Amino acid sequence: MTALDELTEPAKDDDAVAGVPARLVAAPTSTAQASAVLRAAADAGLAVAFRGGGTKLDWGAPPRRLDLIVDTRGLTGVVEHAAGDLIAVVRAGTPMAEVREHLGPAGQQLALDTSEAGATVGGTVAVSASGPRRQLYGTARDLVIGMTVVRADGTVAHSGGKVVKNVAGYDLAKLFTGAYGTLGLITRCAFRLHPRPGAEAVVRAAPPDLGAALAAIRAAQVVPSAVEVDGETGEVAVLVEGTPAGVRDRAATLVRILGDDAGRPHWWGTYPWEPGGTGLKLTAALSRVPALVVRAAALARVRGSAGTGVLYAGLPPDTAPDEAADAVAELRAAAGDAGGHAVVLTAPAEVRAGVDMWGPVDGLALMRRVKQQFDPDARLAPGRFVGGI
Ligand SMILES: Cc1cc2nc3c(=O)[nH]c(=O)nc-3n(C[C@H](O)[C@H](O)[C@H](O)COP(=O)(O)OP(=O)(O)OC[C@H]3O[C@@H](n4cnc5c(N)ncnc54)[C@H](O)[C@@H]3O)c2cc1C
Repeated sequence: MTALDELTEPAKDDDAVAGVPARLVAAPTSTAQASAVLRAAADAGLAVAFRGGGTKLDWGAPPRRLDLIVDTRGLTGVVEHAAGDLIAVVRAGTPMAEVREHLGPAGQQLALDTSEAGATVGGTVAVSASGPRRQLYGTARDLVIGMTVVRADGTVAHSGGKVVKNVAGYDLAKLFTGAYGTLGLITRCAFRLHPRPGAEAVVRAAPPDLGAALAAIRAAQVVPSAVEVDGETGEVAVLVEGTPAGVRDRAATLVRILGDDAGRPHWWGTYPWEPGGTGLKLTAALSRVPALVVRAAALARVRGSAGTGVLYAGLPPDTAPDEAADAVAELRAAAGDAGGHAVVLTAPAEVRAGVDMWGPVDGLALMRRVKQQFDPDARLAPGRFVGGI
């Protein structure tokens, strides 16, 4: 009996990554077991992809080949919560919702917005998902202060630590955040936490001139936690958090600018595509967000964070592949003109076949060298990341 016989099960029909079926599935319950699985997979030359809650498994390009899925849902739990230091160490397969529940009673939060039920900590960090409140709290890359990972050959590595100012030579945590599982398996993360605010308010309206409204919000210095826009309704929604008195004052200022105080809109923090649709992430220089919203809204459903220049665009599932390809090209041109990029996060197979998911990206040679260092045999989700990495 080999290690692979002991540690893996035959794959079932739904064990696939972006449409590519696997032969085997392993569900380790510890970093040591994950290390044994990856060592055995390396010895056998298997192509491996990682799976958390599966909510973003179809993001990124399909792997070129796939033998084994390593499922993290047995790797759960908050390992440590140092409330006094505002730090928590969490296993990668823990659902984000469970982290929220765990930290809630201490009046603390991991300030990463995720809209999908079942999304895990590891998956959220691996795609560097971010939601409305990245405006105030930053992204996963800002909140992860340490990580335990298992490398392609099964070696366990730690980086960073539980001390926010810890300086490590090679910051694995930063590299693995957003790498789509192409560099190794994340098994646990240490996060910087924030106190939960005592009060919050969302002020929203559909202003006649989006650019002027955003400029007025900026000038008012109300320190928003999020400034969200929606192309379909033409609405701007601003979240402020803090002490009850502070929130009251800042919300009143926003009501003077926007003229309404109506709570979170139905579209808040959700992606503008349905299951089976095409979803893109667009970025823009802050000053060019209004122009990009207008241009993108003529091509797709668009919404996102005006305050950080990250927007999402969605095409319906029944869009013809050539129409989708044209729309992606136009959205990419629009984002480029706005000083940013467009990345296709997810799309049906027929659309994927006709579009470049990642588009042109700077620093590809450096990324290839990093990949070569971490996964020289290109066995970890090969082809999933930018440039066929
Ligand atoms: C092989 C490999 C090597 C890497 N090397 C580095 C490295 O040397 N330095 C480093 O900082 N990070 C590196 N990363 C991480 C990767 O670049 C992150 O996914 C990216 O930085 C996302 O960060 P963010 O969440 O801050 O960006 P976001 O703000 O979420 O993204 C901004 C926008 O730019 C796009 N974007 C940003 N970076 C990239 C990229 N690299 N490729 C395609 N689109 C991109 C995003 O998709 C998004 O549309 C590496 C990843 C891999 C797989």
